[in-house]
Amino acid sequence: MRAAAKVNLHLGVGAAREDGFHPLTTVYQAVGLCDDVTAHPADDLTLTLTTTDWIDAGAVPVDGDNLVHRAAVLLGRHHGRELTGRVEVEKAIPVAGGLAGGSADGAAALVALDRLHDLRTTDDALLAIAAELGSDVPFALVGGTALGTGRGELVEPVSDVGTWWWVIVPSRQGLSTPEVYRHFDRLRPDAPETPPGADVLLGALRTGQPVSLARALHNDLQEPAVDLRPELGLLIDRGESEGALRGIVSGSGPTVVFLCESADHARDLAGALMRTGQEVVLVANGAVAGAHLVPSHV
Ligand code: ATP
Repeated sequence: MRAAAKVNLHLGVGAAREDGFHPLTTVYQAVGLCDDVTAHPADDLTLTLTTTDWIDAGAVPVDGDNLVHRAAVLLGRHHGRELTGRVEVEKAIPVAGGLAGGSADGAAALVALDRLHDLRTTDDALLAIAAELGSDVPFALVGGTALGTGRGELVEPVSDVGTWWWVIVPSRQGLSTPEVYRHFDRLRPDAPETPPGADVLLGALRTGQPVSLARALHNDLQEPAVDLRPELGLLIDRGESEGALRGIVSGSGPTVVFLCESADHARDLAGALMRTGQEVVLVANGAVAGAHLVPSHV
């Protein structure tokens, strides 16, 4: 199974609820930067991880805390049995990057194990298990461009007529999502109960125009992320002065994504950012599919 990273085109955050979660109104887009998860028959449940060299493999737990492992436990519980499998994860999505790479692996593992054991779990049950696994996991199943509400787990596809080109700049060191939310609480004690709505962004998506989308991008977690990592603000300024339509922190960061006019524009911007000394610069387009099967020879 292949599962994509996400960027949040709109991330409106409300004041923390009693259960500690923040209510969100978000618009997710799946982009062409993917992890692959392969499940093989085995007598017990094991996990192996391979990564591209610039990903910090040491930051990924390979024990019961891995979202792949937790996916196997929750799916097994739903079917009243213990699931086994030798699960291989090939990671290309930066870890703790605000791109929901762990959620992508969890979503891919749910479908891979469902197929391996021929469980025929219904879509509704898969989505419910995904929501239990993590707020971003249902979107990783659905993909495309979608509105997320609740804590982000209630997803609904939205109309998106464009092909959007992104330059993605990960950081070497991840940023903890709970830490960014805690900092949001400190900086925004006046945050509204109802998170800022996404109507402007949804309207911009329907135009198909990158300039309109650039103007509408919104992330309430950008301020706390940049406050914790001031170099992210400098990176956004640099990308915009090199010609990006707009730079924005992805989710809770620290990955920064730049919206471009076209594939050529994205390649040019990536080259310019690399010449300024940025080590890893990726180009991807969206929207792409949610977790999906790919032939094993690909
Ligand atoms: P989100 O925006 O959903 O919080 P993120 O992109 O910031 O996600 P992830 O890469 O999904 O961050 O991982 C966050 C943490 O989850 C990691 O620091 C790691 O400890 C843990 N984790 C568990 N399973 C995985 C996995 N399969 N891949 C990456 N991280 C995982």
